[in-house]
Amino acid sequence: MASAPPASAPRGRNEYAIPQTMKAWVLGGPEELSLVDKPVPQPGPAEVLVRIDAVAICATDLEIIRHGLPASIEGELPFNKGYTPGHEYMGTVVKLGPTVDEFQPGDRIAVEIHAGCGRCQRCREGMYTSCLNYGFHSKGHRANGFTTDGGFAEYAVNNVNTMVHVPDEMPDEEATLIVTAGTAMYGLDVLGGVIAGEAVVVTGPGPIGLMGVAVAKALGAQPVILTGTRDRRLEMGRQLGADAVVNVTREDPVAAVQRLSHGKGVQYVLECSGAANALDQAARMVNRGGRICLAAFPHEAVSVDLAYIVRNNIYVFGIRGEGKSATHRAAALMGQRKFDARLIHTHTFGLDDLPTALRYARDRVEDAIKVVVKMRES
Ligand SMILES: [Zn+2]
Ligand SMILES: [Zn+2]
Repeated sequence: MASAPPASAPRGRNEYAIPQTMKAWVLGGPEELSLVDKPVPQPGPAEVLVRIDAVAICATDLEIIRHGLPASIEGELPFNKGYTPGHEYMGTVVKLGPTVDEFQPGDRIAVEIHAGCGRCQRCREGMYTSCLNYGFHSKGHRANGFTTDGGFAEYAVNNVNTMVHVPDEMPDEEATLIVTAGTAMYGLDVLGGVIAGEAVVVTGPGPIGLMGVAVAKALGAQPVILTGTRDRRLEMGRQLGADAVVNVTREDPVAAVQRLSHGKGVQYVLECSGAANALDQAARMVNRGGRICLAAFPHEAVSVDLAYIVRNNIYVFGIRGEGKSATHRAAALMGQRKFDARLIHTHTFGLDDLPTALRYARDRVEDAIKVVVKMRES
């Protein structure tokens, strides 16, 4: 992108030359992505134009490109609507919409996904990730990469309430992981957030699970126990702060958690595996009155021993997204270097190579965990 000045342009001044059109990947039918020229969007009131510098691939992107959901455009499947996916991005503010004084051109930012409509009951309660006008941009809702255009492009429009400042010293690739850590943070928030000194089990060492370990540890949980099937990921969990790891192919995870908690069970489980038996197992890891947050889901309907959950007064929460400004708290922990999110970043590609990046993420080529698309050499 030859027309943009370097990110070191003086802050606070509108000196970014912004082209009329940009390169953007657009979803046609299922599994049909094409790189097109598209008009650069214009920021409205309370919005800014972001020059995207890096975007991470998420398992949900793969889901959207294949099945459409959970993306939707004005209530319909997102196919053949000129829609650009990609939601875990960071970049540089290059243009302010009317009334914006929260950010300045030149600011480096990372994004969260959801800008609620601000007018429905859930938004008024602060639950903007559960906006009742979800998917209706016409009513003011934005979920970039899900219901509005996202980050597999050179530019995107963001509401000021979906951005967090990125410290100068934090590399672009690491900043794309703020939203991932924010999702894990939100899971711990809905569990009650009072986890210092409490035992937390994280099931499933994918990106959110690994960030769940890191955030739980940074918030003082003790012990943090991670379960999974692959030793390399479990070892990464250890580096991110897990006090104990359990390979479920070698040890029954419920028995392991009971052993590690001296038969008492734990207070909290953050479920990030999406395994069919995960909730039943989590219910047997927590003690009476324990809390379980489901941050992943199986693709098929599953049967669950509900009587056990009811008899033991176990609370079960589901989350979608990264509400309650959790990305801000995650960014603060990362800015203070409470954990090194860079451990989960494994591969980098250019924007033109998006299909390769998606393949690496989907097929876990070379044991890929977080694959990042970077717009330019830095
Ligand atoms: Zn994601
Ligand atoms: Zn709303």
